[in-house]
Amino acid sequence: MSKRPIAEPYKIKMIQVLRQTTKEERQRTIATAGYNTFLLHSADVYIDLLTDSGTSAMSDDQWAGMMLGDEAYAGSVNFDNLIAAVTEVYGYRYTVPTHQGRGAEHILSQILIKDGDYIPGNMYFTTTKLHQELAGGTFVDVIIDEAHDPQSTHPFKGNVDLAKLQQLIDEVGPEKIPYICIETNVNMAGGQPVSLDNLRKVRDLCNQYGIKVILDSTRTVENAFFIQEREAGNKNRSIKEIVREICSYTDGATVSGKKDCLVNIGGFLATDDEWLFEEAKKLVVIYEGLHTYGGLAGRDMEAMARGMREAVATDDGVTWRINQTRYLGEQLLAADIPIVVPIGGHAVYLDAKRFLPHIPQDQFPAQTLAAALYVECGVRAMERGIVSAGRNKETGDHNYPQLELVRLTIPRRVYTNSHMDVVAQGVIDLYARRAEISGLKMVYEPEDLRFFQARFEPC
Ligand SMILES: *Cc1c(COP(=O)(O)O)cnc(C)c1O
Repeated sequence: MSKRPIAEPYKIKMIQVLRQTTKEERQRTIATAGYNTFLLHSADVYIDLLTDSGTSAMSDDQWAGMMLGDEAYAGSVNFDNLIAAVTEVYGYRYTVPTHQGRGAEHILSQILIKDGDYIPGNMYFTTTKLHQELAGGTFVDVIIDEAHDPQSTHPFKGNVDLAKLQQLIDEVGPEKIPYICIETNVNMAGGQPVSLDNLRKVRDLCNQYGIKVILDSTRTVENAFFIQEREAGNKNRSIKEIVREICSYTDGATVSGKKDCLVNIGGFLATDDEWLFEEAKKLVVIYEGLHTYGGLAGRDMEAMARGMREAVATDDGVTWRINQTRYLGEQLLAADIPIVVPIGGHAVYLDAKRFLPHIPQDQFPAQTLAAALYVECGVRAMERGIVSAGRNKETGDHNYPQLELVRLTIPRRVYTNSHMDVVAQGVIDLYARRAEISGLKMVYEPEDLRFFQARFEPC
C-alpha cells in the first residue's frame, strides 16, 4: 500500500487575519508586559502558542448548537444534552457544570479535603494544587521519577509510582488521604500519558484503603491516543472505548472543557457517587450558578456537549492533533534543540535548563526563554518552571522544580503546519544565538498563581 500523508481531517471556512510585527516593536511590547507573555496583548502576537485552553476552533456543528441555546435559568435543554453527552463519552451518571475546570476543582476540594489532609497526585497542576491547599490540604507528588527527567523516553511518564503512594499511606494513614488526583496526559510533565495498567493498579491499591480516585480528565482523549498507540492490546480499540475505560477506574472527574472538549469556555464535575453529587450541587449554587448551568450560558453547554462527542466520534481528530505536535517537535529534535521527550500530546516543551545553561534557575531561565522567543519571532509561549512552581508555604523560598520548561502549546484546529514551520525556524534561530540571552529578576510577585501576573526586568 502506498503511504499517503495524513492531512487535517477538516477544511477551513472562516479565518482570522494575523498581524506581523517588527523585532523593535516586540522589544518594546515585551518590556511593557514585564517580560511576562501572559501580559502581552494578543494583537501584538503573531502565532499564539501560550495555551491550548479555550483557544480551539469550533466546528460548524458546535456553532449550530450555539444557536440552539435554550437560555432558561433552570433545567435547560442544553443541560440535559450535556449530561447525556458526559455519560456517553466519559461514562459518569451525574454532572455539575462549572464555568471552567478550576470551578470544578474548587468545589471538589472544598467537599473532600479537611484541614491537615494529604492529596497525592501524578505531578501538580497549578490551579488544582492551589485549590487543594486553600481547602487545608497538602499536595504530595507520587509520579514516577522518569517524569521529572526531560530526557527519559519512558512511554508512560504520567504513571503513578505505587511505592511512593504506599509510602504516603503508611506515613500519614489512609484516613488522612481523601482521594488521589490522577491527571491524564500530565501537563507539567510535558503532556505525558498514564497507562491503563497503572490506573488499574492505583484503583486496586486505593480500594484496599477506602481512598477515592479522582481524575483530572481535562486531556483524557489525548491520553487515550497514547494508550492506543503504545499499550499492548489497544491497537484495535477506538479512542472512545479507551476513554470510557480510563474513567471506569475512577470515582469522579474534574474537567476543563476548554481542552479536549473543543470549546472556548466551560467545565464540569462528574461522578457516579450520589453523595458527592449532592454535596457538589450545594456548593455550585454558591460559587458558580444553579446546578443546571454552573456559570455557563445554555449555548456554551450545548457547544461543550457537541464538542466532547466530536472529540471521540472518530479517531481522526486527536490523531491529527498529536501528529501536528510531533511535526513541530521532530523539526526541533532534528536541529538538536533540547526538548522534552517523548513529544507529548498538546505541546512541545523546550528544556530551558539545557537551552540556556548559563542562566541560574533563580534568574528564571524558562521565563527568559519565553520572552526571548517572542522577541525573536512573535511566537508566544508559556513558562512552566520555577515561576509556575511558586513558593514553599513554610520556608517562603522558591520551589525549585527539576523541570524548567517553555511550553509551545498548540491550539486545536487553529494553525496549519506552515505555522509550525515558522515556529520551528524561530526556535532554531534563537538557539543559534542563545549565548547572548541573559536572565531576569522578578520585580512584582502576586502571592498565588504568580506566573499569571508577575513582572520582570533584565538582570
Ligand atoms: C487547564 C487545566 C485545568 C484548569 O482548568 P481551567 O479551565 O483553566 O480552569 C486543570 N487541570 C489541567 C490538567 C488543565 O490543563
